[in-house]
Amino acid sequence: MSTSTSTRSALTFLGAAGTVTGSKFLVETDGARLLIDCGLFQGPRQWRRRNWDPPAVEPSSLDAVVLTHAHLDHCGYLPLLVRHGFTGPVVCSPGTAALAAIVLRDAAHLEELEAEYARRDGYSKHSPALPLFDTADAERAITLLHPHTGDDPVPLPGGANVSLHPSAHILGSTFAVLDAGGVRTLFTGDMGRPVHPLLTPPAPAVETDVVVTESTYGARSHAANGRNVLAAAITATARRGGVCLLPAFAVDRTPSLMMILNELMQTGAIPSLPVHVDSPMALRALEVYRRAAAAHDPQLRPEVTAEVLSRVHLDAARGDSERLNRPSGPCVVISASGMATGGRVLHHLAAQLPDPRNTVLLTGYQVPGTRGAALADGAHQVKIHGEYVPVRAQVVVVDGFSAHADAEELIAWFATVRPPRAAYVVHGEPDSAATFAARLGAELGWNAVVPAYREKVALRARER
Ligand SMILES: [Zn+2]
Repeated sequence: MSTSTSTRSALTFLGAAGTVTGSKFLVETDGARLLIDCGLFQGPRQWRRRNWDPPAVEPSSLDAVVLTHAHLDHCGYLPLLVRHGFTGPVVCSPGTAALAAIVLRDAAHLEELEAEYARRDGYSKHSPALPLFDTADAERAITLLHPHTGDDPVPLPGGANVSLHPSAHILGSTFAVLDAGGVRTLFTGDMGRPVHPLLTPPAPAVETDVVVTESTYGARSHAANGRNVLAAAITATARRGGVCLLPAFAVDRTPSLMMILNELMQTGAIPSLPVHVDSPMALRALEVYRRAAAAHDPQLRPEVTAEVLSRVHLDAARGDSERLNRPSGPCVVISASGMATGGRVLHHLAAQLPDPRNTVLLTGYQVPGTRGAALADGAHQVKIHGEYVPVRAQVVVVDGFSAHADAEELIAWFATVRPPRAAYVVHGEPDSAATFAARLGAELGWNAVVPAYREKVALRARER
């Protein structure tokens, strides 16, 4: 690597700057234009509106996209990129390809439903109401997925290459090491944890010239007693004869919770209760985990078997879902979405929130502005399907089950490599990103900054 070839290389932050969603990082060199992650903005309206802006980079000018993992905020913009002319390869792991296909189809379906409701109820600003993208866009995007097994470098146009390394965040999740224009850059994607209930620990950090790191929990430490809090809340709810409702991301969080609940029942920490998974997408994603378990995928812990991932009542049909709104006795219901922004969990919340015997357990990160965040903050009512629903159920925030590394875990992971020339702290609320950048500087001596949305920086190699 020489510094002379790198002077014209640049990195532009097209998302996950000032927010935790919309990850998109454009790398431009003399020979190539590459996009690392291609995520949708989610959460508050001022961010979601940006999904409708014209693409910040001409999609047909991109040579390739690299995906770190299959969460919508990292892959959900792909159908739009394809709609606007992108035809290149999308490099990712096999697990990401399998889960991204499920996630993109589901997102397209929800977009179409949403547009249909808006047309019917006349509340759209577009006339007629339009989906952000449709099933045809998603299907075309899926045909571009190029799954690559292992962590050896994958050649990209312009002499660049990328290698993908397990990051223990969800099945198939990776951090990416990109060699482009003579500069080596590490993109963490979403960094997982050494203690994930399903996944083996992340691969060691790789020494690079530049680091682009997430900072979702950059200002926080995960509690160690999450299991006790969860067990106590479930046991108390069962004694009251109530229902435990767990809003959960369909991908990863649902099988993780199933694994944890299974262990708590086996050890007698909670009573044996029926567990219902009410999310068609969660069941499709669960099937990917089961197949990986059956194939002894090294990313899964050995105790994660297809059999363990099958001990639930699977409720895919709408009739099942409606019956679950009036369960006959104590049970656990897991339903998407994880931040209660949409999906079947809204029907469950509307049915369960008014009854003080019930408990809503929030186990994941809640983006400010979502219903999940309102519940976590102690809201007395939440608006669901146009109506205010009183919150009389217990709402318990269970910390410690995050699939994101916390600040200590990230610092420990980075401490094993020499400081890069520059580190960019992204994918965090402004406070988390700023706190984490300061810690990288103070504790590891890194030149770490928080870039602005759409800011462009030079990519340069470290002095050698
Ligand atoms: Zn993620």
